[in-house]
Amino acid sequence: MSLIITDECVNCDVCEPECPNEAISQGEEIYVIDPSKCTECVGHYDEPQCQLVCPVDCIPHDENNRESEEQLMEKYLTLTGQL
Ligand code: SF4
Ligand code: SF4
Repeated sequence: MSLIITDECVNCDVCEPECPNEAISQGEEIYVIDPSKCTECVGHYDEPQCQLVCPVDCIPHDENNRESEEQLMEKYLTLTGQL
């Protein structure tokens, strides 16, 4: 499952550099996560790094982008050129 940034985002810029997959970018109004790049940090870290640093706790799981641990690992391997 990818994570999603809600409209509570205050554009503090803290999460973007923490993402190991470069999945986070500045959108038109708030930061956004590219679901095709977000692995929930699987393959890199034990926990989603963006959630850990967000000061307003506005990065929940995106129920519309559900993926299994296996799918997330496969995405990680694809993104890092190992598949
Ligand atoms: S959970 Fe990890 S991979 Fe997904 S957007 Fe946050 S930092 Fe990036
Ligand atoms: S850390 Fe949270 S508040 Fe800051 S830019 Fe990222 S999503 Fe927005």
